[in-house]
Amino acid sequence: MPALLTAVYDARPYDREALLGAPGATALAWRFHEFRLTAETAPSAGGAGAVCAFVNDALDRPCLEGLARAGVRLVALRCTGFNNVDLAAARALGLVVTRVPQYSPHAVAEHAVALLLALNRKIHRAYQRVRELNFSLHGLVGFDLHGKTAGIVGTGKIGRVAAQILRGFGMDVLAHDPAPQPEWAVAHGVTYVPLPELFRRSDVVSLHVPLTPETRHLIRHETLAELKPGVILLNVSRGALVDTTALIDGLKSGRLGGVGLDVYEEEEGIFFEDLSGQVLQDDELARLLTFPNVLITAHQAFLTREALADIARTTVANLTALATGQPLVAGSVLT
Ligand code: NAD
Repeated sequence: MPALLTAVYDARPYDREALLGAPGATALAWRFHEFRLTAETAPSAGGAGAVCAFVNDALDRPCLEGLARAGVRLVALRCTGFNNVDLAAARALGLVVTRVPQYSPHAVAEHAVALLLALNRKIHRAYQRVRELNFSLHGLVGFDLHGKTAGIVGTGKIGRVAAQILRGFGMDVLAHDPAPQPEWAVAHGVTYVPLPELFRRSDVVSLHVPLTPETRHLIRHETLAELKPGVILLNVSRGALVDTTALIDGLKSGRLGGVGLDVYEEEEGIFFEDLSGQVLQDDELARLLTFPNVLITAHQAFLTREALADIARTTVANLTALATGQPLVAGSVLT
């Protein structure tokens, strides 16, 4: 019997290396594509029993219909979030969709903290300055995190790790989550409060919620007005949690002290690409890049060896299960 062929989209060298290095990968057949999976590119899945997709692949109904027509049976997402998949359409088409429900939460939480430390102590500016032999400290004053208040919105796997790291710095940590974890909060000295109180009291606000209709534009003009003036806002979760237009207004007015983003509302087609020789067409992203107190990374919070290995292990386990008729990985099945 020929090995199950998996077409991998938005595939970079580190994806290929991690997937091919996972247990069981050599028993499967692979086809790696650098381009994204969309309705237009779905026919390229022809001959594949499964596709492996990532955060910026657009798995809307037309794309899923294209995959079903091409004979695909399994969509294996190599990420946690699944806001880019029309699950109802997948179900109707009989496509199985899996994700990686859990991988190193430390990778993502540590990246949020890296953005915070760099922003607060102006490391991005100091690095450039010193390379130009400008050893002046003018404009580089930060503040002690110790004794300040951090607000963690969403205390799932990643939010809890972020809270614990910030507690380690001696910060007071407030949290908000519709499904709180009271025992964890007591054990780590974290206090759950209503969202408006978290916004009002926090010197640092970090978002760790999934993107859903309820959380879309969680940060918008009205909520920005509730934030403590000078707050540092961190978003390593999903771009559309933040209304970019409102964010720019908040930066221009000086209400926001700093913004660290690993995700951006309109990142599809921009993040993961080398556009260095081109004219940037996204005016809001271009504006964001002009602020000295904005630090943007291109959706790299997951990019540690440990997280990549975890992601590859679950993904290959699901592909192997499909190929051999075994049960899929517990907790990973979305449809
Ligand atoms: P999780 O499911 O473990 O936790 C999410 C938490 O958010 C849950 O506790 C849930 O109750 C809470 N929540 C839901 N709606 C909320 C709301 N309106 N207000 C407050 N809390 C709310 O997820 P996780 O593994 O911690 O991941 C969080 C998000 O991080 C993912 O959904 C994904 O979008 C993002 N992520 C980003 C990267 C990256 O590389 N930048 C990598 C992995 C995950």
